[in-house]
Amino acid sequence: MLEIEDLFVSYGAIQALSGVSLSIGEGNIVTLIGANGAGKTTLLRTISGLLRPGSGRIAFEGREITGRAAEDVVRLGISHAPEGRQNFAALTVRDNLLIGAYPVYRRHGKAGVQADQERVFTLFPILRQRQRQMAGTLSGGEQQMLAIGRVLMARPRLVLLDEPSMGLAPLVVREILKQIRRLPEAGTTVLLVEQNARSALAIADRGYVIETGRVVLAGSADELKRDPRVQAAYLGRASRAR
Ligand code: ATP
Repeated sequence: MLEIEDLFVSYGAIQALSGVSLSIGEGNIVTLIGANGAGKTTLLRTISGLLRPGSGRIAFEGREITGRAAEDVVRLGISHAPEGRQNFAALTVRDNLLIGAYPVYRRHGKAGVQADQERVFTLFPILRQRQRQMAGTLSGGEQQMLAIGRVLMARPRLVLLDEPSMGLAPLVVREILKQIRRLPEAGTTVLLVEQNARSALAIADRGYVIETGRVVLAGSADELKRDPRVQAAYLGRASRAR
């Protein structure tokens, strides 16, 4: 569904991605694991058209999207829930969801938008209860649910989720990941960026480990969980090899 080949991205003199290649199959949950500054957010921002790569190629469903404008990428079916949630704090939950539907409103019509909102409320029932509340007054977990719900309103076939577990209590993280795991059932493929490798590998089919702008390991989630290097660096376990 998504093919990335030899992607190079820099911020002026700072090289953030140096030859990243990866692929995501339809209906999969793929996670990207890496430490602070590894380049995970840069990769998501490049896929979604917010950054232009210096070189390399991104293809979505067989169509090249490298360097396309962000609004085109959303219309083609890729939505990005950025790090830090970025809801509209002074708008209600419901209005935030409606804004999420804006790029596709004409295509889906009022009934379509209503159905998409129902889907979000089914995934995260607390949002139905809070629909008239200002987004800025929600708890951290509810804000994250809203951020995910908002991007689902564009009915993406691929969703890019940047650190949804950040700053949340373990129980809330579990609830959110449980719902992320269900997204493929409704036809949404997931690219999940996480520093919390344990949680990410628990729900992913495949994963990539990225270090200083390069993919250093790739495999099924089970293979990565068993890999001594992943265990030592990302799962907080001493490597058996040592
Ligand atoms: P984190 O987990 O902390 O969000 P990350 O893996 O998402 O990290 P990126 O945010 O993609 O990492 O950053 C990759 C590299 O690019 C880092 O060295 C970072 O300092 C640099 N970088 C990111 N954004 C900018 C920017 N706007 N200007 C200059 N350098 C940047």
